[in-house]
Amino acid sequence: MRRRAALAALASTALAGCAKPAEWQGGWVGAAHERGHRLKGGALPAAAVQRRAAVLVVGAGIAGLAAARAFVRRGVDDVQLLELEDAPGGNSRGHVLAGQRCPLGAHYLPLPGPQAREVSEWLHEIGLLRHELGRTVADERHLCHSPQERLFIDGAWADGVLPPAEPASPTLAQYRRFAAAVARAQALGFALPSQRAPWTPAHAALDAVTFEAWLAREGFDDARLRWYLDYACRDDYGAGPGTVSAWAGLHYFASRHGFHAPGDDTAEREPVFTWPEGNAWLTDKLSAPLAGQLHTGRTVLRVAEQRHGVEVLAWDEARAQAEAWSAGTVVLALPLFAAARVLQDPPDTLRAAAAQPHAPWLVANLHLARPLLDRPGAPPSWDNVPFGARGLGYVDASHQRLDPSPGPVVLTAYHALPAAERGALLEQGWRHWAGRVVDDLAPTHPDLPGKVERIDLMRYGHAMAVPAPGWRGHPALAALRAQRGRVRFAHADLAGYSVFEEAFSAGSAVAG
Ligand SMILES: Cc1cc2nc3c(=O)[nH]c(=O)nc-3n(C[C@H](O)[C@H](O)[C@H](O)COP(=O)(O)OP(=O)(O)OC[C@H]3O[C@@H](n4cnc5c(N)ncnc54)[C@H](O)[C@@H]3O)c2cc1C
Repeated sequence: MRRRAALAALASTALAGCAKPAEWQGGWVGAAHERGHRLKGGALPAAAVQRRAAVLVVGAGIAGLAAARAFVRRGVDDVQLLELEDAPGGNSRGHVLAGQRCPLGAHYLPLPGPQAREVSEWLHEIGLLRHELGRTVADERHLCHSPQERLFIDGAWADGVLPPAEPASPTLAQYRRFAAAVARAQALGFALPSQRAPWTPAHAALDAVTFEAWLAREGFDDARLRWYLDYACRDDYGAGPGTVSAWAGLHYFASRHGFHAPGDDTAEREPVFTWPEGNAWLTDKLSAPLAGQLHTGRTVLRVAEQRHGVEVLAWDEARAQAEAWSAGTVVLALPLFAAARVLQDPPDTLRAAAAQPHAPWLVANLHLARPLLDRPGAPPSWDNVPFGARGLGYVDASHQRLDPSPGPVVLTAYHALPAAERGALLEQGWRHWAGRVVDDLAPTHPDLPGKVERIDLMRYGHAMAVPAPGWRGHPALAALRAQRGRVRFAHADLAGYSVFEEAFSAGSAVAG
């Protein structure tokens, strides 16, 4: 308690002495939300231009880009993409701040496991993976450098994000018991993409209750374990254990590396691919071969299936005119609630799926005048997480820079927000949210407010599907995944939650 009080006093002194929020530069980045809100209704404009495509992909996020790639690989040469934003990538876009590349959303991809076949195959194609003496080897230049992650707790930085536990403490006992529960779940079958795992009554039972209810039932009540699980759920799903299902809470660990209590010598730090600009690096690789077929700044307003094809009406944001497209096949690579708005006479399955809950997110890129002073403990890492903060901490975009000469300091801070804050995210100004981001980090870094030069904020009203109880096994999602008519669906929403592997495999499957 004494340490915390001293830290709070230090933080408030620093805020009083050096903070200069009025001098911070910055603003919102990404397309104005008015573009998305064009889908909310009103009279449709008359088209000034008429165009055709064999396959038209609506939405150039990871799923849409993977879908276009899959059709091209099947020999369809006239594949075109329409994207609302001025750049492809959706949640996997990047930004440049003070000359330093940084993420606007997704920032890493774990080494794919055996079930993520399409992702592995593509990573081989672009040279990130290779076969060597019968083993799969990753190109180390693209793996996260050490030190990877640290947690600010009890006045010092600790290595890793799992809060430390004393030997023979109740915390350690619960860590070990939770590790055993995850191992049992792994025996049940979990995979990434999740559709490649079996779906049994035991899985359905986990999908029927919240993770919170499951943890309480199993007697997991240790405060440190609970903090860590809350952090992990907010980090991956945008919502905590009280909102996501027990299936989702276990899937996070069971589909990947498991859960390892301190002292477990089978524990290995999971290697992850990352870049200064996060997964925008992957977006660039995926979109480059499609450059001539990609039409950005096109907000699709209406998709209507006809007897001999599909008619699509898009708004060209730069020319302020409508374009009419005719296509043999249309792939809706949009969040499902957006697909339900643009598709004329949506099927009942899509109407049902449109009710899927989504989490709002705020991503802040902060340019600092100088590096931060550090506190005792583990050294500055790629991912830096303050215990008990409202946000999820920050990633250091400069950490992955291969050029050793000193460059600008750019930190990317992540906030998964409760759905109740969606309105405030749109209505409150940049200064309010920039202040909140800095306030969240200042107790850990009292010198931060005085070093901020610029803060660029990206807001996502509906960033990612939240795997609330009932969504993983929802029959509407299964029906939309199987749809192979003229209008098809490809988006991470089809999995009930959002990660690169789900988006990429949903896109790859749609050309089949
Ligand atoms: C802040 C944040 C951090 C994340 N971090 C990670 C991470 O580190 N690793 C990871 O694996 N995953 C992460 N994710 C999950 C991420 O969502 C997925 O990795 C993936 O990018 C989802 O791709 P998608 O194509 O399914 O969806 P989206 O990214 O939602 O793509 C949909 C596309 O459709 C476009 N669109 C929407 N409406 C229209 C319209 N009417 N007309 C035309 N185009 C339209 C959108 O602009 C967008 O480009 C993160 C997500 C967020 C929000």
